[in-house]
Amino acid sequence: MEHIVIIGNGISGVTAARHIRKLSDKKITIISSETAHFFSRTALMYIYMGHMKYEHTKPYEDYFWKKNRIELKQGYVKNILATQKELLFSDGEKIKYDKLIIAVGSKPNKFGWPGQDLKGVHGMYSKQDLDAIEETAPNNKVCKRVVIVGGGLIGIELAEMLSSRNIPVTFLVREESFWGSVLPAGESEMLNRHIKNHHIDLRLGTNLKEILSDENGKVRGVVIEETGEEIACNMVGLTAGVSPNIDFLKESGIDLGRGVKVNRFLETNIDDIYAIGDCAEQHQPIGNRRPIEAVWYTGRMMGETVAQTICGNPLEYKPGHWFNSAKFFDIEYQTYGWVFAKKKDSEEHFHWKHEDDTKCITVAFEKDSSLFTGINTFGLRMRHEVFDRWLSEKRSVHFVMENLSKANFDPEFYKKFEPQIAEAFKNKTVSV
Ligand SMILES: Cc1cc2nc3c(=O)[nH]c(=O)nc-3n(C[C@H](O)[C@H](O)[C@H](O)COP(=O)(O)OP(=O)(O)OC[C@H]3O[C@@H](n4cnc5c(N)ncnc54)[C@H](O)[C@@H]3O)c2cc1C
Repeated sequence: MEHIVIIGNGISGVTAARHIRKLSDKKITIISSETAHFFSRTALMYIYMGHMKYEHTKPYEDYFWKKNRIELKQGYVKNILATQKELLFSDGEKIKYDKLIIAVGSKPNKFGWPGQDLKGVHGMYSKQDLDAIEETAPNNKVCKRVVIVGGGLIGIELAEMLSSRNIPVTFLVREESFWGSVLPAGESEMLNRHIKNHHIDLRLGTNLKEILSDENGKVRGVVIEETGEEIACNMVGLTAGVSPNIDFLKESGIDLGRGVKVNRFLETNIDDIYAIGDCAEQHQPIGNRRPIEAVWYTGRMMGETVAQTICGNPLEYKPGHWFNSAKFFDIEYQTYGWVFAKKKDSEEHFHWKHEDDTKCITVAFEKDSSLFTGINTFGLRMRHEVFDRWLSEKRSVHFVMENLSKANFDPEFYKKFEPQIAEAFKNKTVSV
């Protein structure tokens, strides 16, 4: 029987396994060096915040795997011996595969800062990272301050986690405004204010120079590049982005860029080896999308796609319109289509912000044709399927603004702002 081996038990690897099982009787093994069972990485923060236990983050009961004849193996794969179709584990064990799926995810970036490997310096990616953070920062008696380095989605989650235990946070953000390389200025500036309102010591345009050690090799502070200022702290959180977790593949003969290079069928340069999820890098970007996309739903889509190909129905990866969502403390964010931080010459952005400074939208459209190209919403919930359809139907911005209330899915008694937004659009009073 053909043996499919999957390295990585995250959303992409597990989705591939589930779909291969639905489509076939093949032998399936999933390997992970992290946890015995699949859990929702996006829910890690809620464990620290006390909203969930680790057990609650597992989407499937532990009996699911045996019932579905998916073998789980814990261990770290040190190398892929492609000519023999074997995996070599760090303990020297080898196992054979017929087809291999690499689904090894990401690792937090480290940029060679002095002190980056001290005790008390943590990424926020794995279950092991979470356990380490719990140990270093259990409360504000043991941990007097944390310095977070890197202002993206994971950085702000970490800030929220620590704030939930009243641990003071200094947040170093290289850009002049939070997530300013992704969000238009109006949105990014609203988030700066929101972060500060949550008593975070937000330092914009600020870089880490060095992490300082005490006599036991533990973090005692950081030095700021621009000013030389020393900030005392007991923990440093490194959240300056992630990159594919592929160091162990250097000797494997698999074509690597920043990630594992794949074609549209998610095939690598070596027969019977595929790569999916955060670690896969498209040779050619798909439309405006990045060649590597470290988001949950694209991992899931790649898992479904590769399962079809492996089971004899070759399928191209077609992710459709870009969308994403996140949360910045109390403000929910959704994006559909493309709203670039700096609009193109051919584009117009319409920006509306509520006076309470926690809700805003930016709508992007083509200047000449009025074609709607994307929307960012903050503090208002909009339906994915509606925007997906409007993007496919190539609707005009006028249509979208007139029908905005059809996309809203805030709970029944929430105040609705669409008439106000449509009116502002008509008058273009707050156009930027
Ligand atoms: C804190 C946090 C919050 C997030 N929030 C969101 C969100 O709100 N929305 C969103 O879209 N995305 C979010 N993401 C990103 C999302 O979680 C990832 O895109 C997704 O989990 C990647 O899935 P994956 O299957 O590609 O890899 P992973 O989930 O990283 O799984 C890979 C697994 O492979 C294992 N592994 C790696 N190398 C080896 C090896 N050599 N041998 C054995 N095992 C190995 C790893 O230990 C890991 O368990 C978040 C990420 C983090 C860290």
